[in-house]
Amino acid sequence: MKTGFIGLGAMGVGMSRNLHQAGLLTAVWNRTASKSAAVGAELGVAIAATPAELAAACDVVVICVSADEDVLGVVDALLPAARHGLLVIDCSTVSSQTARTAAERLGAHGAEFLDCPVTGGVEGARKGTLAIMCGGEAAVLERARPVLAAMGPTIAHMGPTGFGQAAKATNQILCAGAIQAAADAMAFAKAEGLPLDLVIDTLGKGAGGSWYFVNRAPFMARESYPPGFRVRLHDKDLRICEEMAAARGVELPIVSMTRQDYAQLMANGHGDEDISTLFRLRDALFQSPRE
Ligand code: NAP
Repeated sequence: MKTGFIGLGAMGVGMSRNLHQAGLLTAVWNRTASKSAAVGAELGVAIAATPAELAAACDVVVICVSADEDVLGVVDALLPAARHGLLVIDCSTVSSQTARTAAERLGAHGAEFLDCPVTGGVEGARKGTLAIMCGGEAAVLERARPVLAAMGPTIAHMGPTGFGQAAKATNQILCAGAIQAAADAMAFAKAEGLPLDLVIDTLGKGAGGSWYFVNRAPFMARESYPPGFRVRLHDKDLRICEEMAAARGVELPIVSMTRQDYAQLMANGHGDEDISTLFRLRDALFQSPRE
């Protein structure tokens, strides 16, 4: 199965290396040509001049680019080479509607599409341990399975086109709740003068613990926020959640509150810090309490 990769960013480089290791990678394309030149040279694979040239040389094209309009731009650029037998797998985090639009545009030319957003971060992309949430037809997913398995061991079929993205949006809502709870709790614990490392170690084992509390409360305790899951990226994902809920006439309180907090953090220059930087805002509440 000849596979091409589009989008050699923080995620895409690791994912394409793992596809190469599995003997599947044929060609790469990236908007900034210097990145595709570097990856092409490292892995000894073809460097396509355009997305269509890449698609013409491959059976499967994997996309991992930034946002909705970027995915649709890449899909449009693939269309000259779209045909029966071509399978396009989008691993970017975008809306379910974007997935359906991409599937329709490719489907008009006989090509197949799966929305396959991932979770597990840059580390998971590098190690090939991503969890992949898939939307599309079951038979198409079976065809894609060897390609997906090269990038991660957990491959879950959530339903028809767009359902992979709906599952990813669900995950981003969970992350918002978990980081909000951890930030509130840690600011409170600090104000009470508790030994923070002992609090994390003890409460992290209890019912109130979460991955975010165990792994990110230590950042809060040290008030140091190395790049992990960037505020800017989570805000983009929560905008998708907000729009999907709004399409059903609903506003989700944790999503709205978190986006307001992120807007403040980005305005103060913290948009590229890990989302545990939310602690700054909660800690500040205890520094200058209301009268
Ligand atoms: P990134 O490092 O910013 O890389 C973005 C990639 O998309 C780059 O290769 C960029 O090309 C390309 N791109 C952006 N706009 C484009 C356009 N209009 N046309 C063609 N290419 C375009 O981002 P990332 O962290 O790899 O994330 C990629 C996707 O995975 C996002 O949807 C993100 O939400 C999702 N994701 C990220 C993580 C994470 O932890 N980072 C985890 C799970 C999912 P250039 O090199 O030319 O800029």
